[in-house]
Amino acid sequence: MHVAGIQVHSAVPSTTDPQAPIWHASPNYGPRRDGLKPSLIVLHYTAMNSAQEALDRLCDPVHEISAHYLIGGDGTLWQLVREEDRAWHAGAGEWHGQSDINSRSIGVELDNTGKHPFSEPQMQRLEKLLHKIMHRWTIQPNGVIGHSDMAPGRKFDPGPRFDWLRLERNALAASREQGDGRQDAPQDRFRTLAQAAGFSAEVDDETLLNAVRLRYRPWGKGPLRPADFAPLTPQS
Ligand SMILES: [Zn+2]
Repeated sequence: MHVAGIQVHSAVPSTTDPQAPIWHASPNYGPRRDGLKPSLIVLHYTAMNSAQEALDRLCDPVHEISAHYLIGGDGTLWQLVREEDRAWHAGAGEWHGQSDINSRSIGVELDNTGKHPFSEPQMQRLEKLLHKIMHRWTIQPNGVIGHSDMAPGRKFDPGPRFDWLRLERNALAASREQGDGRQDAPQDRFRTLAQAAGFSAEVDDETLLNAVRLRYRPWGKGPLRPADFAPLTPQS
């Protein structure tokens, strides 16, 4: 709606919209700091056994964690915190050199233990939700990231089973580069490329490699290989 020319982003679900989330308020939120608005969407898995268990945890004042949305394995969508507010999902970390990710992002939790594939209804619901949030806040595909992208070594979600390529193909995440992985490319070149892609958190080489692999080639093992460079290297 518009009030005196100022667009008001109403995130409280409308009852007439069949896609509307089920409102399940969490007390775990605060105001966004420094007047920040969402420019990122951070994807998580819950690492819990059921959506109900996650819902309880995300709304428990003792645990002081939350997210804006939770999507169940069957595609059910709950909203816990208004998009205008600062949910507590990201914690310490950074992306493209920027910290306080909670003030800059919308957090989406996916009901998944981290050990099994994400279901089709859940992915479809996620895609619809991403599309809406991106439109509402003018967030570009490169603003959709994983928790492990901004907190390498500390967080591993949404994990190796998450289908980033699917989001990329639907313009719901930044397309990976497809440059040549150079045989002679040194470690510091990898770090420079990873930083340019957003992986700016200060971590050791192995932690950085693991985080980049989680996003682009989770089957990757062992030391840095030319193939690790390809998704970060623009085609020449
Ligand atoms: Zn997470």
